[in-house]
Formats: sequence, structure tokens, C-alpha cells
Amino acid sequence: MAYSYEAPVSQSLFDRASVVTPGGVNSPVRAFRAVGGTPRFMVSGTGPYLTDADGREYVDLVCSWGPMILGHSHPEVIAAVQDAVAKGTSFGTPGEGEVALAEEIVARIEPVEQVRLVSSGTEATMSAIRLARGFTGRAKIVKFAGCYHGHVDALLAAAGSGVATLGLPDTPGVTGAQAGDTIVLPYNDLEAVRAAFAAQPGEIACVITEASPGNMGVVPPLDGFNAGLKEICAANGALYISDEVMTGFRTSKAGWYGIDGVRPDLMTFGKVMGGGFPAAAFGGRADVMAHLAPVGPVYQAGTLSGNPVATAAGLAQLRLLDDAAYTKIDAVSAELRGLVGEAFTKEGVAHTVSAASNMFSVFFTDQPVRNYEDAKKQEAFRFTAFFHSMLEQGVYLPPSAFESWFVSTAHDTAAVERIAAALPAAARAAAEATA
Ligand code: PLP
Repeated sequence: MAYSYEAPVSQSLFDRASVVTPGGVNSPVRAFRAVGGTPRFMVSGTGPYLTDADGREYVDLVCSWGPMILGHSHPEVIAAVQDAVAKGTSFGTPGEGEVALAEEIVARIEPVEQVRLVSSGTEATMSAIRLARGFTGRAKIVKFAGCYHGHVDALLAAAGSGVATLGLPDTPGVTGAQAGDTIVLPYNDLEAVRAAFAAQPGEIACVITEASPGNMGVVPPLDGFNAGLKEICAANGALYISDEVMTGFRTSKAGWYGIDGVRPDLMTFGKVMGGGFPAAAFGGRADVMAHLAPVGPVYQAGTLSGNPVATAAGLAQLRLLDDAAYTKIDAVSAELRGLVGEAFTKEGVAHTVSAASNMFSVFFTDQPVRNYEDAKKQEAFRFTAFFHSMLEQGVYLPPSAFESWFVSTAHDTAAVERIAAALPAAARAAAEATA
């Protein structure tokens, strides 16, 4: 595909980056591998906008893959960070900021009786899995195809997000032993979960699932799916782990738990709770968390865990996320979903706008998408044409048909109007695209 627009400064930065960094990026989802072209190197962000190194401004529908729920450079978050930075950047001792952030999480999410702070969502899920294994004394875990839980060895099998975008087979570097204890099942299929437990009685430590998946595109759980998982886990002495790294503090004040009310044994968080800094967490039942060192035998640690700058940013962001903020985000998401659907319908493009609360994505199919196999059947080549047309017109979408789009409280009428103005031509480009 030829691109009619150029980004010379991004291109030269990408050329430099590609010499010193594999693929020129520090996280594969940032590369434009699936859509082609040059990744944009961003230099600043304000509200709903990002500005790249060539000086072009974009309406941002990625929001740093979820964290920037108040938009970029929110003045109160920046002030909290400046205040914290002025006092020092890391102490390697406990500090009040981490207590306050943990209290905020525990207050918002009722099943979280205790929480441990870490620095990334990957660390959170890795630690939760270890804890589940340590608590139950069992080795095997269940995950679902198309769910992404970070790049934890045991969780990379049939993963979503960048693994799905790049169409990678099972990742080299993960040993047979690590992968062998992972049972991968189709999403939204409770019968498959029952069968796995029946086939391996007393061997499964936990089921881990995205509370509502956003890493194969947005594929919400069918009614009763999460409740069914919880029930099957409870009946079999296994733990139900709800990964809310993406949905936590985004889909509602109490994340997806605030929507479906299914009580997990353990939960994982990241993204929004760090306010744009590396902060994440896992938590849940106090009797399970009591197995963690220094109280219990399951070891887990981190030099920068509960970092004072990161916790200050996260706390400032969470405190601003009141009911009014979620009402605003939900409304802008609904408006955009309507505009996107209209544009594709007008051009006769088969599509489904799939939403889970304010998270949404487009599948280029009119068939129901209930799992990863369904998601892969879409005409993803249409997304490539759509993506580049939107980019050219100043709208920054995730560079993959298998990722959620994110909005923020800063996406105001002006930002929505810019997106609305870009959609007709982009929908036409999708309609005209060929495989
Ligand atoms: N879990 C889910 C549901 C995610 O979406 C992600 C990242 O996108 C992770 C875990 C991993 O988080 P991190 O990238 O902070 O390691």
C-alpha cells in the first residue's frame, strides 16, 4: 500500500531506533507491522491530542493503550507528579503514597481486601499466577485464546494483543514445561472449562481471564460466563483470577467488577491506576494474599514497587475519576460508536462495532464475534486502509484490528467533530480495500 503523506522526522527517528532497538520499538504493539508505514514518534500530548515529531496533531484514540483516561497532561495529575518528584524519586522504603493508593483501590473494589503494588500489568498477572499455585499447591492454569495477560511465559500461549496482531505462533523461548502447564480454551465456552476440570481433577490452580477482553478486539463475556467461571473454580478448589489491567477503573469506578458483580478470588490491575506511570497491582482475598512474603512463603518483590512518583500520579488520577467522569467517558464512547457505525453502513462495509462499557473496537464482519476464532475471520485488510486514512486525517487509532479503542474525559465536542469529519473518507477507503 502506498501512503500519500509523509512523516520525515518520525522516519529518521525510526531509522535511528531500528539500529539500536529490535524493530525500532520498545513494545511490539507500537510498530506499524500489521498496517505498514512508519510509526509516529510523539513528542507531546495535551487533552485528547498528541503531537508527533513532524509537528502534526492527532486526536488520540489509543490513550497510551488505556491509562490516559483523563487525557494527556491533566493539570492536577501533573501537579501531583511535580510535587512528588520535588521530594525525591525513589526511597526503597515504605511511603505514605503507596498506602493511600492501596486504600483507594480497596475502597473502590470490594473483593480486594488486600493489594500488593508492582510496576507493570505483566508483573501483576505473573505474581497472581504464582500466588494461586502457591496457595493451591497445584501446577496447571487455564487461560483463554485471544486473552492477553502480559508477556508472562506461562500466559503467552494463544495470546491476544501484539501476539495476535503479528500472527505469531507459540513464542520461542517459552519452555515446554512452562507452556505445558497452561490449558488454553476457547473464550465464552463454559462447557470447555467444565471438561478441562473433569479431565484433570485436582490439578488446576486457577482460571485467569480478562474481565472483559479487549486484546482480540473488544469481545465481552456472554451473560453468565464470568459467573460460571467463578462457580466452576469454587466447585473444584481453584482460584478465579479476573485480569482487570485494561478494564480496571476504566469500564466503571470499580472496573468490570462494578458491572458484572462477580467476585474474583484474585484481581490484577495496571494502566489507569498508574496515571501514565509504571504502577500496577494484584489483590483479592486476604487469606490468599496472606501467603505472600513476608507473611507467607510465596516470594514476590520489586525495587521500584509503590514508587512515590507513580503512586502520586495514580492516586491523583483515581481521585478525579468520579461518577461524572465515567458518565462523560461513556457518553463520548457511545457517540463515537454511533458515528463509526453510520460511516461504515453508508459505505456498505460489513462491520460490527463491539463495545464493553466505554471500550470498543470494530470488527470487519457482520457475523457475531464471541471468541478469538470469530475475531480472526474478519476482513482485517479493510482495517489497514481505514487506519491510514484516519491517520492521514489526524486521528490516531491503535495500529491493529485486534485492539480496543480508548477515549477519555478530555474527548470534547471539538475532538469528536474532528473524528466525525475523518470518518466518511476512511470508511470509503475501507470499502474500496482489497485483500
Ligand atoms: N493484562 C491485560 C488485560 C492487558 O491488557 C495488559 C496489557 O495490555 C497486561 C495484562 C500487561 O500489562 P503491561 O503491559 O503493563 O505489562
